[in-house]
Amino acid sequence: MISLNFNGLRLKWKIFTFLLGFCALLLLILWLFQTVLLDAFYKNIRIMEIKRDAITVMSNAGNDDIAEIIADISENSDITIDITDLSGKSILRSYSAQDRHVAEVFMLLISQARENGGEFYEYFSPPAMNPRNRPMPGNRPQMQSLIYTKLADEEDGMAVIINAVISPVNATVTTLRFQLYFVSGIMIILAVTLAIIIAKRVSTPIEEINREAAKLAKGNYDTRFAGKGFYEIAELSETLNTAAVELGKVEKLRRELLANVSHDLRTPLSLIYSYSELMNDFPGEITQEQIKVIMDESRRLTTLVNDVLDISKLENEMEQLNSSRFSITETVLKTTMRVEELLRSEQFEIIFSYDDDIYVDADETKISRAFYNLLVNAVNYSGASRTITVTQTTTGDSVKITVTDFGEGIAEYDIPYIWDRYYRGSEKHKRGITGTGLGLSIVKKIIELHGGTYGVQSEFGKGSTFWFEIAKLG
Ligand code: ADP
Repeated sequence: MISLNFNGLRLKWKIFTFLLGFCALLLLILWLFQTVLLDAFYKNIRIMEIKRDAITVMSNAGNDDIAEIIADISENSDITIDITDLSGKSILRSYSAQDRHVAEVFMLLISQARENGGEFYEYFSPPAMNPRNRPMPGNRPQMQSLIYTKLADEEDGMAVIINAVISPVNATVTTLRFQLYFVSGIMIILAVTLAIIIAKRVSTPIEEINREAAKLAKGNYDTRFAGKGFYEIAELSETLNTAAVELGKVEKLRRELLANVSHDLRTPLSLIYSYSELMNDFPGEITQEQIKVIMDESRRLTTLVNDVLDISKLENEMEQLNSSRFSITETVLKTTMRVEELLRSEQFEIIFSYDDDIYVDADETKISRAFYNLLVNAVNYSGASRTITVTQTTTGDSVKITVTDFGEGIAEYDIPYIWDRYYRGSEKHKRGITGTGLGLSIVKKIIELHGGTYGVQSEFGKGSTFWFEIAKLG
């Protein structure tokens, strides 16, 4: 079976088909009116005219120039008019031919009109006549005629009888048919021209954009779209341009990350290896410091690998929110204590102040992870300062967690980008910090998943305050 897949059609062919279809529909309507319905229309219009003429004749019956008036009307409307008395006797007529039986026929018509409330229609089909008024031989198309009888008011004692052909004249039909062919031709030419123009204006820019988009799909992020012609195309180009720029940025950052990560992986790995080698060669001289280096470096590696794994999981939306009711106050407290424990030797002071024990309906592991990232950043970027404050405040129906450090702060030009994946501040590696540039983008993703808000205030050289806010329970 042949099936027509309309979705597979090119836009220009679609436009073309629609226009031609529309054109065919119009032609069909025109054809219907000019052939099938022509007779009915013509007949109704003729009857309307005949009635109007009868009224005109009647209203002028008393005039001196009535003979002229009926001659005029009869010529203009191509009808014969008889004015008779109520016995059918002719008073005035628009033609000269005489017929002896006419009075009897008129009499009959008048009596019918009397029975029918003053007017009477009689349809008949006269034989087609040649110019000498003789019936034409052969099978000529049947004409339909009408004799319309209208009685005047009783006291006038007068009737108007009109005889007219009410079928369209052959010449008219031929003219209309010729016009139909003509109009069909013009419409088809117009539809095709219009289709070509529209196709050019609509589908060409789309095809161009498609070509460029194919380049983008292949990884050429320098591709730019310049579609114009109409609003939607310009807008689509704009959107695709933004997408190309963003993809380009991500790609650049990704490459940088790869370089950073491989660098950051190599340094601790080679440290671990050389210290282990040392310990292996001189087992008797193992120092506390050597063991600490190995432990520190292993911890860095773990953080790095965890960050990369976390972000890719979150990015792929593989992880759904595993929400439950828990005390955010307790989670923050536990995480703070864990970090403090890790930093015992560095004598960090983390001060946690909170107003109340607040419960939330959220994913505890993820919220704890987000807070942990902010806290670890505060530690990493604290510089000489050894104090970090954490506060929990409630406003309306949400709870806000703030982490403030008094370290190096963030350069103003870095602030808009720090939440981006792989972005690392331009003042990095000061304390040999192993960062991936993923910590804050993980925070961002987690808080967004929870429908919360987040932000930062920072002054370069003075410190930073990072915060996030999510809905609280009760
Ligand atoms: P990183 O692994 O580099 O810390 P993040 O996404 O956690 O990655 O942070 C992105 C960048 O934001 C960091 O490289 C750093 O420049 C800046 N930053 C984040 N937190 C702080 C902070 N508390 N103080 C100063 N700079 C910060």
